[in-house]
Amino acid sequence: MARLVMKFGGTSVADVDRIRNVARHVKREIDAGHEIAVVVSAMAGATNQLVQWCREASVLHDAREYDAVLASGEQVTSGLLAIILQAMGVAARSWQGWQVPIRTSNAHGSARIEEINGTELIKRFRERSREVAVIAGFQGVHRETARITTLGRGGSDTSAVAVAAAIHADRCDIYTDVDGVYTSDPRMVPRARRLEKIAFEEMLELASLGAKVLQVRSVELGMVQNVRIFVRSSFEAPDAIDPRGNPPGTLICDESEIMEQQVVTGIAFSKDEAQISIRRVQDKPGVAAAIFGPLAEANINVDMIVQNVSGDGATTDLTFTVPAADFERAKDTIAKAKDTIGYERLDSANDVAKVSVIGIGMRSHAGVAARAFKALAERNVNIRAITTSEIKFSLLIDAAYTELAVRTLHTLYGLDKT
Ligand code: ADP
Ligand code: ASP
Ligand code: MG
Repeated sequence: MARLVMKFGGTSVADVDRIRNVARHVKREIDAGHEIAVVVSAMAGATNQLVQWCREASVLHDAREYDAVLASGEQVTSGLLAIILQAMGVAARSWQGWQVPIRTSNAHGSARIEEINGTELIKRFRERSREVAVIAGFQGVHRETARITTLGRGGSDTSAVAVAAAIHADRCDIYTDVDGVYTSDPRMVPRARRLEKIAFEEMLELASLGAKVLQVRSVELGMVQNVRIFVRSSFEAPDAIDPRGNPPGTLICDESEIMEQQVVTGIAFSKDEAQISIRRVQDKPGVAAAIFGPLAEANINVDMIVQNVSGDGATTDLTFTVPAADFERAKDTIAKAKDTIGYERLDSANDVAKVSVIGIGMRSHAGVAARAFKALAERNVNIRAITTSEIKFSLLIDAAYTELAVRTLHTLYGLDKT
């Protein structure tokens, strides 16, 4: 007997028929003798609709009420799945975040899970003869205020991994609309290959650099709590799967479990970027603080930062990127601080994209990025900014060239499926 968490994303529970399909996946594992906690997302599109309604209600709205509205999507699917499981003769009960309880911080809209009482969940498995716990993903409750919180978009992945850690599950299966983690988004790169295994560190980079297959925090949590995360498809016929076999999917695991490490493992991209360049900034101590201090105070995350070598010794150019959603606010913040910063002109662009190449093998191989610069130059793709770290590098380019750049790099690093 194993203890499993099974998480189903939005497209997997998009309507009642799909939820019935999910129930058959659950029944298969129950019939195999396992203890099961399920975590569900809202129906595909439901959360977007809820966000839209909040905006229509009032552009500026109370974050606590936004969470009250957004959490409702997962309440619906958890109840529906419990109903269908019961109709199939499988003991099941739905649980909302506050009922488990999944305790979180009070950062409404992007709350962090602080505590889940796993002992209580395990006790229920025992007392209620393996009753399936169908837990609403994406939501929790703040201890002091007792208000409902949500974990940020894509947060059901994090709910699932946190529940898996709390109940010491043998595995956390993330069922989604692709059968694993690919070398790049298969929707953008038809030649992308499914990875059998990927190291936590690499998955963390892939996710934070744009691959939305897993929420970043779920990977972080899996890494820290040592949860085996397996990404697989919910669209495979539930009854055709042997619960003791090896279904297709990708295991997120420790680096040491991966025998043959490639230099490059995957390529991610993000179009939610905007670039700001400050021209002829005074080249003197304290200027970076004068620029990035006010941005930090405004809660704007600065990502890539490039400072040109000063030509005249007196002034320099400084370029950085911010999330596209914060573009206007960032420009305003810099303009307001013009007197303290001291610069001539502010240039900006929001039709930019960040393409990132990731691989643990880069630690021990030199010249990986240089090959990318050459390949992109040959295709006339201009690079606006570059950042590198131990296991990845990112390039800022014009958004129109995203597909070309991603596919070019995918081929260049030998990732295309054969
Ligand atoms: P769910 O609703 O199940 O949580 P998501 O839409 O959040 O599913 O995530 C799955 C999607 O992630 C896929 O449909 C795919 O387009 C996208 N994706 C982006 N990068 C990758 C990648 N490297 N491997 C697999 N899927 C990826
Ligand atoms: N329903 C939430 C969202 O769309 C959480 C999730 O699907 O993971 O962001
Ligand atoms: Mg998701």
